[in-house]
Amino acid sequence: MGDTADVIARGRASFLGLALGDALGATTEFMTPGEIKAQFKVHRKIIGGGWLRIKAGHVTDDTEMSLAIARAITANESWKLEAVAQSFVDWMRSKPIDIGSTVRKGIRNFMRTGELEVAANEWDAGNGAAMRMAPVALFALGDDEKFQRCCLEQARLTHNHPLSDAACLCIGRMTQAAMLGADRFELHKMTRELIADHPNFQFNHYDGQASGYVVETLRTVFHYLFTTSSFEECLIGIVNQGGDADTTGAIGGMIAGAFYGPDQLPKKWLKKLNPEVRREVEVQALHLVQLSPWADRETGPVPAR
Ligand code: MN
Ligand code: MN
Repeated sequence: MGDTADVIARGRASFLGLALGDALGATTEFMTPGEIKAQFKVHRKIIGGGWLRIKAGHVTDDTEMSLAIARAITANESWKLEAVAQSFVDWMRSKPIDIGSTVRKGIRNFMRTGELEVAANEWDAGNGAAMRMAPVALFALGDDEKFQRCCLEQARLTHNHPLSDAACLCIGRMTQAAMLGADRFELHKMTRELIADHPNFQFNHYDGQASGYVVETLRTVFHYLFTTSSFEECLIGIVNQGGDADTTGAIGGMIAGAFYGPDQLPKKWLKKLNPEVRREVEVQALHLVQLSPWADRETGPVPAR
């Protein structure tokens, strides 16, 4: 299993991978695979545009909400759910380029009532909680009980649905396993465990649907994660599926980033990524891993690499 520096580097690659997938996928969000093919043949460059008319290298709610969680954790050097909720409020007030309706409803619910969990709702099986799992995966590395608590608490600020919960737990644990050096068989086994509990997530006969429904989101991510052999190929496959492409890209980038590690993140994409976002993601990722139970057990100071 990886040494200390390798685990940290993979944590950083996971958060960067999320931002890259978001920036790459924003271009093809809500397009169909046919429309993407007609316009780009294959979409493989970070060029911005899309329905949000975003600048090349800029990111959307997926990365921004992840950073909001990261800031709340690192500012307190501990998990304070109220701080996470407040950080979401601050983000919403910053007039983000995009915000999902379930997310907006959840944040408004907190502002109005101070409640830190929305009521269970059969319509909350969107991917809005799963897309922001990277910070919790990094911060709670090495303590699964803590991970489960933080994971579900952050999720239910806006989404309270068994399929969203299961998706959040699974992709967070896959990210952690990949950081610690898991191979693709181990990651695949984790998807089988999810599918044993929730057969909806079965992706053997992938049907190409990539909507904001968290089941379709994970099927898309898993399909490309296990049928490709590089970070770049995985992400290109995902975002060319269209649909909720920035979010499938973000979640795929989070797992694939940890799995393939920093050297596999395409340089041409990293160069395009908004430098402010890149810098903050790198600083936050390091800080989050330093705060983790895993880092606590490592002997000696955690090197900043
Ligand atoms: Mn987005
Ligand atoms: Mn999206």
